[in-house]
Amino acid sequence: MLRTFAYVRPGSVSEALKHLEARGARIHAGGTDLVGCLRDGVFDAEKIVSLGKIDELRGITVAPDGELRLGALASIAQIAAHPVVAGTFGALSQAASLVASPQLRNQGTIGGNLCQRPRCWYFRGDYHCTRKGGSTCYALGGENQYHCVFGGGACVIVHPSDTAPALIALDAKVRIIGPKGARVIPLEQFYVLPEQDATRETALEPGEIVLGVLVPPTAPGQKSGYRKVRARGSWDFAMAGLAHAISWKAGRIADARLVLSGVAPAPWRLHAVEKLLIGQKLDAKLVTRAADGAIVGAKPLEHNGYKVPLVHGLVEEVLGGLSPS
Ligand SMILES: Cc1cc2nc3c(=O)[nH]c(=O)nc-3n(C[C@H](O)[C@H](O)[C@H](O)COP(=O)(O)OP(=O)(O)OC[C@H]3O[C@@H](n4cnc5c(N)ncnc54)[C@H](O)[C@@H]3O)c2cc1C
Repeated sequence: MLRTFAYVRPGSVSEALKHLEARGARIHAGGTDLVGCLRDGVFDAEKIVSLGKIDELRGITVAPDGELRLGALASIAQIAAHPVVAGTFGALSQAASLVASPQLRNQGTIGGNLCQRPRCWYFRGDYHCTRKGGSTCYALGGENQYHCVFGGGACVIVHPSDTAPALIALDAKVRIIGPKGARVIPLEQFYVLPEQDATRETALEPGEIVLGVLVPPTAPGQKSGYRKVRARGSWDFAMAGLAHAISWKAGRIADARLVLSGVAPAPWRLHAVEKLLIGQKLDAKLVTRAADGAIVGAKPLEHNGYKVPLVHGLVEEVLGGLSPS
């Protein structure tokens, strides 16, 4: 059952920031994740600060130089349906259209999608696990078939968002505002691994709000995409996924950014594989070396060993299907 809390709907960001100074205040955007967490007792709230009336957080615009600007309240459905996103920022468009179900895409916002809490059933259940400040990660010796194979440690969650890896492949930045002022950081640096702090997923400080996301203009010859593998055709999180953004010049790879979803506590960038690809012509041999490189360092748990060949196959499939033209 939900505990009693105050509910406010400020009309501006500055008003919202004031409300967020209150003890136990939490941000509400679409509510598709927040309400489930409150209902299941994952965390409490004394005050819910809805962003819904703040018009300055809405909108999807393209700047004259081609930069894509997403307001935090842009819905996943609006992003998936946007013609410029579909035509120019393929990875984001494909990732958004693969999130959850049509209802959740209509209600869920990009700010909420980037800040949603992990789906680990121990974290969501009645367990005082490491992520809740306890001393045990119950998934380590338990039911860990959907947990991480990279970047684990004190906690073996996987990061749940599909849009985050796509946006990181596209080199996006996140705009944040809080009691100490505004800042813009690469989305890649927004996420926190358990070795840094196992009790939080993002670099957000108390009282901070995500204002929106900036995606730089695409480089000449850049193509991007997102491939997601899930157990069911809809309504399901990634067992593993791969976002790519690759630029070509004279038949060779000029730049490459590859980011995995569903396999680590944060979107997992394949830096070594990117380095291997840059400057090369893509042929079957290079694809195999890239797939081999993608699984170096994987540490499967008792029940999720399948994710290692899954990542290998994903990289083979995605890179094997690319060509400069
Ligand atoms: C059944 C189901 C299936 C799903 N499947 C997928 C999937 O396949 N892929 C995927 O990516 N997601 C999936 N999701 C997650 C869904 O996409 C998110 O719930 C949704 O995007 C969150 O957006 P929201 O606006 O509803 O966020 P809310 O629920 O309002 O907020 C989520 C969290 O983010 C915080 N927050 C929200 N906005 C901001 C902001 N602007 N600044 C700072 N903090 C903020 C809130 O305080 C809260 O902690 C699924 C969810 C469900 C329930």
